[in-house]
Amino acid sequence: AKRSGRNNFRYYSKDLTASAKQRLTLESELRRAAERMELELHYQPKVSLDDGAMVGSEALLRWCHPRLGMVPPTQFIQIAEDTGLIVDLGQWVLREACRTAAKWNAAGMAPHKVAINLSARQFQSQNLAGVVADILNDTACRPEWIELEITESLLLDDNGKTLDALSELRSMGVSIAIDDFGTGYSALSYLARFPIDTLKIDRSFIQSVITDHYGAELVKAILSIARSLGQQVVAEGVETIEQAAFLAAHGCQLAQGFLYSKPMPEAEIAALPRNFSDG
Ligand code: C2E
Ligand code: CA
Ligand code: CA
Ligand code: CA
Repeated sequence: AKRSGRNNFRYYSKDLTASAKQRLTLESELRRAAERMELELHYQPKVSLDDGAMVGSEALLRWCHPRLGMVPPTQFIQIAEDTGLIVDLGQWVLREACRTAAKWNAAGMAPHKVAINLSARQFQSQNLAGVVADILNDTACRPEWIELEITESLLLDDNGKTLDALSELRSMGVSIAIDDFGTGYSALSYLARFPIDTLKIDRSFIQSVITDHYGAELVKAILSIARSLGQQVVAEGVETIEQAAFLAAHGCQLAQGFLYSKPMPEAEIAALPRNFSDG
């Protein structure tokens, strides 16, 4: 038993070494991705369930690796977070998204709010409100043209710094959304304590609204809480007309998902019709 244990250990340790090497390579390549211009933002439309109008979009990071092709964020965001690289990457994302938001809004494309994903690390390691203010200034982007998406875990780890940064951003006119709402260790009390404009209901709940009674009741309850707190709701991962109809019937204002559009490069979004009910 001892011997086979040793063998197992050797086997796993060899394996781990290989994946650790791979990770190290990815890490050093990621470090240079921005300067090599391998990063790109794609945008996924946000649609008003009232009238089908495109009212905004979410900026989603893409890494076009010369050898591996398109590396999805699920494969590199965690590495970026663990190594702290996310702070620089996140700053690149902020600047790029603000530049696009300024371009679209200045071009007279109907008011369009670009949502930007933020990592908790970006709050811890820098004066985020100051960074955002500088970027808005440099890119001639108005604060009301962007929304920052944060996750519930950020609010739970709060050390006072988060609340200060969020309050400052909010008073600048930037709106704040809670991403993946309902999947974290939700403590409903933070909804009242933090300055939050928007709840994004996670895709896992949206998937169940038609097939599952409890799923449907849960989404109705979230919509009702948001309504009484004056928060806007975005349903994410809407894939079917039935889901959209359910959400509209229960007072959800905005939807995002493959039913309307996948995330697409900037130029393709700009070329889309402004209204999704036009056919
Ligand atoms: P997220 O913020 O929850 O983004 C939504 C994800 O769901 C996106 O995946 C999007 O492509 C996908 N999605 C949208 N509609 C549908 C649908 O109808 N069905 C299905 N099955 N999926 C849908 P993506 O682009 O792969 O991004 C994954 C995650 O990576 C994001 O989840 C976000 O947490 C993270 N991420 C992406 N860009 C950034 C960034 O710039 N900064 C940070 N910190 N994280 C980012
Ligand atoms: Ca998001
Ligand atoms: Ca989300
Ligand atoms: Ca998600």
